[in-house]
Amino acid sequence: MKYIFVTGGVVSSLGKGLAAASIGTLLEHRNLKVQLQKFDPYLNVDPGTMSPYQHGEVYVLDDGAETDLDLGHYERFTNCTLSQLNSLSSGQVFENVIKKERRGDYLGATVQFIPHVTDAIKEHIKQASEAAPDTDVIITEIGGTVGDIEGHLFLEALRQFSLEVGRENVCFIHVTLLPLVKAAGEIKTKPTQQSVAKLREIGIQPDIIICRTEHDLDEDNRRKIAMFCNVPVPNVVAFRDVNHTIYECPLDLRKDKIDRLVSDSLGLDSDTPDLTSWQGFVDRLIKPTHKVRIGVVGKYIELQDAYKSIYESLTIAGAAHDTKVKLIKIDAEEVEKKGVSAISKKVDGILIPGGFGERGVEGKIIAAQHAREKGIPYFGICLGMQIATIEFARNVCGIEGADSTEFNKEAKHPVICLQEEQQGVVDKGGSMRLGDCRSVLFSGTKSAELYGNCTHIHERHRHRYEFNSDYQDQLQEAGLVIASVSEDQGLVEIIENPDHPFFVAAQFHPEFKSKPNAPHPLFSGFIKAALDHRLS
Ligand code: GLN
Repeated sequence: MKYIFVTGGVVSSLGKGLAAASIGTLLEHRNLKVQLQKFDPYLNVDPGTMSPYQHGEVYVLDDGAETDLDLGHYERFTNCTLSQLNSLSSGQVFENVIKKERRGDYLGATVQFIPHVTDAIKEHIKQASEAAPDTDVIITEIGGTVGDIEGHLFLEALRQFSLEVGRENVCFIHVTLLPLVKAAGEIKTKPTQQSVAKLREIGIQPDIIICRTEHDLDEDNRRKIAMFCNVPVPNVVAFRDVNHTIYECPLDLRKDKIDRLVSDSLGLDSDTPDLTSWQGFVDRLIKPTHKVRIGVVGKYIELQDAYKSIYESLTIAGAAHDTKVKLIKIDAEEVEKKGVSAISKKVDGILIPGGFGERGVEGKIIAAQHAREKGIPYFGICLGMQIATIEFARNVCGIEGADSTEFNKEAKHPVICLQEEQQGVVDKGGSMRLGDCRSVLFSGTKSAELYGNCTHIHERHRHRYEFNSDYQDQLQEAGLVIASVSEDQGLVEIIENPDHPFFVAAQFHPEFKSKPNAPHPLFSGFIKAALDHRLS
């Protein structure tokens, strides 16, 4: 097995995750089997309990691991399906080491950062490789920036690791920034030199340097970086700002043949990549024939990253219909205050994403009602499904006071509530339904048609509250259709309103299972409906 370690220098937010994902894409196109992994130096055990303001979205895997949004890029850019082995934070490492110490596993030894913590980190890479023995290359991205105190142990572990598995089996890639100093009209290489020097100080000599640059990288600068950073000139690779979409990143990195450099450096025998279909996907994204406007009504609407996978899934589904998706971000609290006037008249579809807590909920209910009454395509995701249920109960069935016990503990009609066995669980991470669940799909429903009439589906979950089956009959008699229930417990998974061009809401998160080569059927159906709505 071969290993690629991607570190970052100079500043954060350089697109290191996208670089790692893009290398994954390119290697897969060379017919190699890849796996990606992210190490985060923060002390949270996982991002599950972090605020979206801190962290952007929490990306959920099949096995229920709550991870960094970069894992979303990894899964969308490649064909791999990741697990908890593909994500590691300092919090997790320390938790494990201290648990072992308490159990007496260290047999009385003094437990130290080196070797015990570094061993735990190396062990994680080994576990990931053992779990998928047919993998050719594991790409590990290290969060943070070289020089951060908290990242030091990870880098030390990687240095040791490369020594143990053989330097020829490891490729270190360092991503840095080439700033343009406007006054001098010059691109500066000094920060890159210094960041590589920092890396070499701890014993890591990068094999490839990826230079993030607004423009291009000329020969002089390439040579300068190569000389000061001790790498061959071709191993200095430009990573330019892409014009239109992040899916251009692999194509940009391919210009400097990064995949061949990696492949050669690891001594891999691999094919020249055929990127025709990826290029086709990018072309459809850049020059679409149609356009739709999708209103997303949410609580963290001003944050670029809070609904990352949803935005990506909309874009991907748009490409499948040769359609550009223009996002109209609508603040749920604005709708609460101003009513439907806060929803742009020109939306062709309304999507309500997942969310926690009471803030903005009544605004979302107004938006769902508006979509239902005006025949605007509606797509509810997780909380968006619970909102649709409450709205239907209140305004179609006339159940006054219908609510979720998440927002109103004393709700007279808790149409959404906790399951019996969840009551009394206080640990925030403890009571969630997380990860993959197999569900039955009922034939004759809109969803069954969209999923290609399969009988079962697998989707990922991240929520506490459920559709309350005590109200099921009443809601169904009023016309609500239940299109899917979980196979084990019969929990409601998808609801639909058939008296409507497209009103579908899912308790799970379809946005975690949408890829360029496999747009999610529900997103695809939603975009198609929005397009029909626009053209009608
Ligand atoms: N807050 C809701 C619940 O816990 C919905 C969660 C979500 O949208 N991810 O059930």
